Amino acid sequence: MSPSSPLPPQAVLVRKYGGSSLATVERLNEVARSVRAARDAGCQVVVVVSAMGKTTDELAELARRAHPNPPRRELDMLLSVGERIAMSLLSMALDREGCPAISLTGSQCGIITDSSHNDARILEVKGDRVRDALARGYTVVVAGFQGVSREKEITTLGRGGSDATAVALAAALGAGSCEILKDVDGVLEADPKLVPGARRHDHLSWDQMLEIAAGGCGVVHLRAVEYARAHRVPLVVRSSFHDGPGTTIGDAPAHRAGAPIPPNAGPGPGRAGGGPRYRPLVMHLEPLVARLRLTAPREGLFAAWRDLALARLDPCDIVAEWLDGGPAARWEALVRKGLPEGLMEAMEQAAAGATGDHALDHETGLACQHRGPRLALFIQRPQQ
Ligand code: ASP
Ligand code: MG
Repeated sequence: MSPSSPLPPQAVLVRKYGGSSLATVERLNEVARSVRAARDAGCQVVVVVSAMGKTTDELAELARRAHPNPPRRELDMLLSVGERIAMSLLSMALDREGCPAISLTGSQCGIITDSSHNDARILEVKGDRVRDALARGYTVVVAGFQGVSREKEITTLGRGGSDATAVALAAALGAGSCEILKDVDGVLEADPKLVPGARRHDHLSWDQMLEIAAGGCGVVHLRAVEYARAHRVPLVVRSSFHDGPGTTIGDAPAHRAGAPIPPNAGPGPGRAGGGPRYRPLVMHLEPLVARLRLTAPREGLFAAWRDLALARLDPCDIVAEWLDGGPAARWEALVRKGLPEGLMEAMEQAAAGATGDHALDHETGLACQHRGPRLALFIQRPQQ
């Protein structure tokens, strides 16, 4: 099934496909059918492509064999070719599908960048040739990840930079939608390869997405998110392999402070008392952590419990802790190597005769992914 795009007729749809969605000619043909379906539904479609499969890595490896430290300009001349292969083949596949298409490089689209080779920033998008081609009824296929400097040199936008091409074009064209199509179902709470069953975010604000991207989650390129936020371009991140709602990124987060807290989202470090926090995909996997959670009236048992726990825990073993203020205070700590022996018993004794609602629990054998020093976290429950 191909993803569908419910946009008003003639709205401009910018849709970006990543390398794994374009890995083979068969996949290119499927993408062509999906793009044609969006065109048939009445959209003017601009497709931004990454290089097919691992092409960029292979080109970089060729360069490395030619020179241990390739001149940056020449590297851009080489790497930008990957997207040109994908764009021309996709245009051919579209033509074969009966969907007239034209491919354009970043430079031909007027994507003007600074002159920092291999990591250029987009300064301006002219987009005239794209607008002309759309007006003439063409579907436009754009090579992502590249632009041209004011000195007329070809530049590339840094690894994963095709997302930035898509967002910048969407902003310049006033697109009705900018879709980033991936081999995952959207922005997930963790890498599904590491954490099977990781949940998908339905909606994120630009700020939340920025935090997730800055935390090391490669699902959308950081600069692309920055650009989207600065130009208020709403994004949809979804699967290129099947229809699904994906994750929308823009105004109005679905979960606001005060809404029920999803089971796996506590207030984050430094956010005591705030709304739920989305935990980015993160860098390190910490196996065998224990989670200790306690809730008690702020005045009374809470302090005694927390003091007791902190006195018995080695500070170096606390991976993260969350403190949630309010009359019923909540404390949650993730502890490396499990909890010291006798701690739970001592805490239960401390609670004997306590009044007011209070609760104490712990889980062991968890794993968490984290990234210091900001401690973005995802907690993984052991597999059943
Ligand atoms: N092909 C480039 C890369 O692999 C750009 C991209 O995929 O967005 O980094
Ligand atoms: Mg790529």
